Parts: sequence; structure tokens; C-alpha cells
Amino acid sequence: MSIVDNLLQHLDKVKCTGPGTWSARCPAHEDRGPSLTIAEKDDGRILLHCFAGCDVHDVLAAVDLDISDLFPPRAIDLRVKPERRPFPAADVLRAIGFEALFVAAAAVALLDGKPFSQHDRERLIRAASRIQAAMAAAGVSHG
Ligand SMILES: [Zn+2]
Repeated sequence: MSIVDNLLQHLDKVKCTGPGTWSARCPAHEDRGPSLTIAEKDDGRILLHCFAGCDVHDVLAAVDLDISDLFPPRAIDLRVKPERRPFPAADVLRAIGFEALFVAAAAVALLDGKPFSQHDRERLIRAASRIQAAMAAAGVSHG
């Protein structure tokens, strides 16, 4: 789901008012008319504006969203501190641990001169890419 769809599903009386623009009832104040304007920018960012003057943080808080929900993942990476991790470290370590065991088992088999099939080879490459993916999921950059 795109970030704008995720936002719109939290809002009431959503109406598309043009390409990449919507109006909706503002969740942060007693809004009778649709005071909230939502615009999707070309770079994927979402702009929110309440014509009654609500702060964007209050609007988001009213629907349990965060300012980061207005930015595509790439923009979030640039904005947040590197220590913020989208996944719990334990989950990532568990995934890496499993793949590391497989790599170790493959290394032992190779050292013992056991036959190494094409399937084993592909599985080994998949283990490496899963470890890379786990690092990416944890917000760890390479190098
Ligand atoms: Zn408002």
C-alpha cells in the first residue's frame, strides 16, 4: 500500500480533488467540512494542511500516525538517526543466525570434500543475500 493510501484510509470523508490531491475531514478538530488538504508530491512525500489551523503533528496524532508516515522509506532513511531500527534486533539476529548456521554447515561439508550440488550452491548464495537483506532491514549500511 502506498503511503498516501495508508494515510487516506485513516481519514473520513476523503474526496479526490485532483491529480495527487485529496480533501478530508480533519481528525484533529471538530471538522464539519473537509478542512484537511492532502497532496502527494512527485518525490513521494505527503503534504498535509488543515485550513482551520491544526498543526500537522496534531492531525497525525489524532489518527495514530507519525510524521514519518508522510515520507517514502528513502526519505525516512535520510531523516532519522541511524540507530532507529524498523525491526526488533532479536528478529534480525535470529534470521542471520539461521543463515550463518547454514553457511557454516556448507563450509564444513566442503572441507570434508563432500559433493556440493548446484542446489547447495544456490542455497548458499541465498543465505548471503538473506543476511544482506536482514542488515538492510535493521538499518545497517554496508562497509
Ligand atoms: Zn484541523
